[in-house]
Amino acid sequence: MSPVSKKRRVAKKKKKPHNGLRSQEIVKYICLQCSMTEEIPLNVVRNFDVMDDGDPTVPPQFSCEECGGGMYPEYYKGVHGDEYKIGDVRK
Ligand SMILES: [Zn+2]
Repeated sequence: MSPVSKKRRVAKKKKKPHNGLRSQEIVKYICLQCSMTEEIPLNVVRNFDVMDDGDPTVPPQFSCEECGGGMYPEYYKGVHGDEYKIGDVRK
């Protein structure tokens, strides 16, 4: 029998594990209007995601500093396991 839950638990706590591993993961956001890209640290996006208890079908969104348009993640997997891709909204 193989273990089922080998996967990393989705972190609900804000505390970071302090084991010397410095993960600098970022989520790349792309403006839907002017295509500007911005890299946002994953933990920032996560925090937004956790705080925002709204519609799970939309990712945490940021507004573009250039044009004020909505930015969408190039790829982001949400805290509830939902995946968001820029391809979903842009053809
Ligand atoms: Zn823009």
